[in-house]
Amino acid sequence: MKRVGTLALAVAACVLAAAPTFAAEKKVRWNMAMTWNSTLTPFVNAPLQVAKMVSDMTGGNFVIKVDGAEKHKAPLEILDMVKGGQFEMGHSASYYWKGKDATTAIFTTVPFGMNADEQNAWLYYGGGMALMQKCYDKFDVYAFPGGNTGVQMGGWFRKEIKSLDDLKGLKMRIPSVAGEVFAKLGVNVTNIAPGELYTSLDRGTIDALEWVGPGMDIKMGFHKIAPFYYAGWHEPATDLQFLINKKAFDSLPPEYQAALKTAIKAATADMHFENFAMSAEAWSTMKTEFPNIKVMTFPEPVLAAMKKATDEVLGEYAAKDPFFKEVLDSQMAFMKKARQWTKMSEQYYLQESEKVVK
Ligand code: CA
Repeated sequence: MKRVGTLALAVAACVLAAAPTFAAEKKVRWNMAMTWNSTLTPFVNAPLQVAKMVSDMTGGNFVIKVDGAEKHKAPLEILDMVKGGQFEMGHSASYYWKGKDATTAIFTTVPFGMNADEQNAWLYYGGGMALMQKCYDKFDVYAFPGGNTGVQMGGWFRKEIKSLDDLKGLKMRIPSVAGEVFAKLGVNVTNIAPGELYTSLDRGTIDALEWVGPGMDIKMGFHKIAPFYYAGWHEPATDLQFLINKKAFDSLPPEYQAALKTAIKAATADMHFENFAMSAEAWSTMKTEFPNIKVMTFPEPVLAAMKKATDEVLGEYAAKDPFFKEVLDSQMAFMKKARQWTKMSEQYYLQESEKVVK
């Protein structure tokens, strides 16, 4: 009996020794602000997943409370709020900070630029994330990709765009570099927070808008007012973004930092998958459910003018700001190389397989 008792004690001691000494089980409570209202799937699923994974991975010790725009009322001020420490974290899109620093815009997407595969390869394996962090160091925040939408649709228009003349005087919600491109082509451009898009279109504050793609757009009801749905050119790989206050992150135990970074990468990838699934689903039923929607492509002369204006806008920023030029050059060099493989793999596969797969 005595021997069994000793053995049991020894086993118990081993179990105790093997129990995780997890960052002293420090309780951490963070708040995260999103640009989006809490109902806006799949965007909000990325921050919600991060919060859940981080809590699960730390035994409930690291808790992140996620606030939607309907609560904090400052959808386009996430960077300031994270920098100032009101929120330790934010989820938004980098191009909303273009007014503070133009270079932030091209970490989201570039008109006629890389697609999602190419952009992810650039970010994670082509030096992109290091450049993004260099850009955000001045704001004292860490920046991470936060979910990619893939190619976005070119937007909803009340009337068909037959020529460049049809763009002149048009009031459109279209953010960032693409907005400047359209402004050069005579469009009255505005950016409106996501929660106010439908009302703005309905009231005639705007005549047209771009949002994301069918998975998210159709639920918003834009097609009821503006049924001409154009193919994309302006946001071929829109990346959302996680921002983290540097002081807050640096004061985390290393295990929590690792948990957070792992959760961010997983949730970021998952948002891309989910958005694709949602768009595929919506697209497959759109034509029968909403026969008034007219899927369009911009006429080639309009596209050519957009490309020319894009080069001008990017060229002007690059001439003014050496760091903008460094990032843009890095992207363009990577795209030039990567596009050859995209053509040989994705494009060639689609083109050839469609001959036999009906
Ligand atoms: Ca968009």
